[in-house]
Amino acid sequence: MTPVLIVLNAGSSSLKFQVFDVPDGVEPRLVWKGLYEGLGGSTHFLVKDTDGAVLDEMTWDSGDRFGHEEALVHLVSRLSQFREERKPVAIGHRVVHGGEAFSRPVLVDEAVIQRLEALVPLAPLHQPHNLEPIRIVRRRLPGMPQVACFDTAFHQTQSDIASLFALPREMRERGVRRYGFHGLSYDYIASVLKDYDPRLAEGRVVVAHLGNGASLCALKDGVSIATTMGFSALDGLPMGTRCGAVDAGVVFFMLREMKLSPEEAERVLYTKSGLLGVSGISNDMRVLRSKAATNADAKRAIDLFVYRITREIGSLVAALGGIDGLVFTAGIGENDVATRAEVIAGLAWAGLTLDEAANRTGGPRISSRSGPTAWVIPTNEELVIARQTRSVLGAMQAKLAS
Ligand code: AMP
Repeated sequence: MTPVLIVLNAGSSSLKFQVFDVPDGVEPRLVWKGLYEGLGGSTHFLVKDTDGAVLDEMTWDSGDRFGHEEALVHLVSRLSQFREERKPVAIGHRVVHGGEAFSRPVLVDEAVIQRLEALVPLAPLHQPHNLEPIRIVRRRLPGMPQVACFDTAFHQTQSDIASLFALPREMRERGVRRYGFHGLSYDYIASVLKDYDPRLAEGRVVVAHLGNGASLCALKDGVSIATTMGFSALDGLPMGTRCGAVDAGVVFFMLREMKLSPEEAERVLYTKSGLLGVSGISNDMRVLRSKAATNADAKRAIDLFVYRITREIGSLVAALGGIDGLVFTAGIGENDVATRAEVIAGLAWAGLTLDEAANRTGGPRISSRSGPTAWVIPTNEELVIARQTRSVLGAMQAKLAS
């Protein structure tokens, strides 16, 4: 029986998974991927191989009360049954917040779960969804090793100054600081820079993770020195539905003058703002691009997105003391030719110039002539979780053997 790792990414009504072979001495290798959609209601399960061929598919109707718990138990038993004999030996989880305590992936036990639960107030809309499958697996599959991999951990290399807010000292002591997110994505990009240009791996690079969530990270020698997200995943760039940086005074205005409750204000900032809020049309860049020529609201939302990206890159270039490379990644960064062109046009002052033909075909190198280079590099957060899970598992096995 071939041992495999399952990598999970849980949302409020979905559970995405990828299954990796872990041959000795080489990268974990993706073999299957799939998802459960519509959990808690009418649920659809689908698993495909790496060529996109559907291997298994099932549907439950809303009367079946099929939720995250049923999905996890189903997944592990189903994977052990079909096609080649593969046995899940560990589960790696994406966990959005590791706080100050977790600067690396960790084997989950009861104490770890409690410490992660204490971080829910720092990521109220994401952390509970990440912790639920961990708790379910502990309860229903108690022997299964689980590894928590954090979106914040990669940024723990940042200096005290880079992570500090200008707030009273006691707030810093309570954990109010800049953490940064999308660390699994930045970890992946940092790990492959040398394959694109060895000079970048040791250089000053800004990575633009532009998806439904969006942030920028300044890498120096492959290490995070600054990022646009801060205490929560709200800060920095405007996103699909999140506002990005707003003056804290706006929140008081929402509470006092608009009489919103904290929960209502939170919902506005997380789910009704960003591209969706400004356009009033959609959080989906494809939709906005398709309307921008004739719809001023769609154009305005895109223009603000690009303007903020360009300004924030300027801030990170200052933090880096210059720029050798710019990397675009995630849904918009990997696919939206126009966003890449517009951002690079706004960075002419930094010596970046676009190779239009290369940009249209996705590069990977999309800059022309000399000077700093620009790249399109697809991210792979799941592979980072598989790498980290294997490494924690290896350490656990070595400890047991000694
Ligand atoms: P992610 O969160 O990384 O899955 O990225 C989601 C975002 O990527 C959404 O705004 C999508 O509209 C955008 N996206 C995906 N494919 C394309 C595409 N071909 N052109 C423009 N935007 C895209």
